[in-house]
Amino acid sequence: MTGKCSIALWAAVGLLAMSVGCGGGEAANGGESIKSTQQIVTTCGMVTDIVAAVAGDLGEVEGLMRAGVDPHLYQPTRGDIAKLTSADVVFYSGLLLEGNFADTFSNLEQSGKPVYAVTAQIDKSHLRSPPEFEGHPDPHVWMDVQAWSKCAEFVAQQLGAIDPANAKVYLDNCDAYKAELSALDTYIKQVIGTIPEEQRVLVTAHDAFGYFSRAYGILVRSAQGITTESAPGIKDINDLVDFLVEQKITAIFVEQSVAKDNLQAVIEGAKKKQWEVKIGGELYSDAPGPDGTYEGTYVGMMDHNATVITRALGGEAPEKGMAGKLSE
Ligand SMILES: [Zn+2]
Repeated sequence: MTGKCSIALWAAVGLLAMSVGCGGGEAANGGESIKSTQQIVTTCGMVTDIVAAVAGDLGEVEGLMRAGVDPHLYQPTRGDIAKLTSADVVFYSGLLLEGNFADTFSNLEQSGKPVYAVTAQIDKSHLRSPPEFEGHPDPHVWMDVQAWSKCAEFVAQQLGAIDPANAKVYLDNCDAYKAELSALDTYIKQVIGTIPEEQRVLVTAHDAFGYFSRAYGILVRSAQGITTESAPGIKDINDLVDFLVEQKITAIFVEQSVAKDNLQAVIEGAKKKQWEVKIGGELYSDAPGPDGTYEGTYVGMMDHNATVITRALGGEAPEKGMAGKLSE
């Protein structure tokens, strides 16, 4: 994780604060007192991670959604609303991912609270809007690491606007994190590219991997639509079974935050047509893995996904992933 500010950086921040005439020069002496800690509340783990990386020591970041929680379905509790109300600033993913928070966010905004969707400044031309989403953009932007890196830049800009004395620290933290994300992006491209072309098809429970598909060159099919709110019909399941049998695809993937029964129906359906399909592994789609683990970070979740997909579909990836940190 980034965000460790060196003494030299603090000194630079002290100078910056003096030159703009706010905060005085206190930091130059003890290196502590210009530090203003922002109380930041976030929604899902992917957002929590980029905000924590950018805020570094200058923010206390609390994510409302725990590991394995489905953000499409999550209802804010009274406790969540209390935390959001007392936060200095709120970041969420946006594009209707946190569908049940719409009223809460609009109330907070009306009260004057800085509330930002991290995807707010993603260029519209980069958003996927497939026809089946009926005019709504696909919210799963974190599945394209470069696009998520842009969201980290947006967080740095907003934190810098709220806390101008530390604007440079946020930008530096962001740059360090972006370097990490760039290495991740390169790794994913490399390993997915080793999957034999005819096997390069990712079949999942719900349609979370559209950006992944576009960024990393792998075809994606899913049993369920863009949100987990509507269940797939029998026709969706049958179409997917036909697709697997015709394309001779042998592995499909479950998602940690989404019910597994639909894919079980697909496996059963294929079996009736004498085609054996295996579960290729469990992917983290809409929530990172357990707190305190490597897979519980954004980088770890994406490393896990790319590594598991590649190995199950006949490509070449190190067993323990990009940095040897994966647990299985
Ligand atoms: Zn989703």
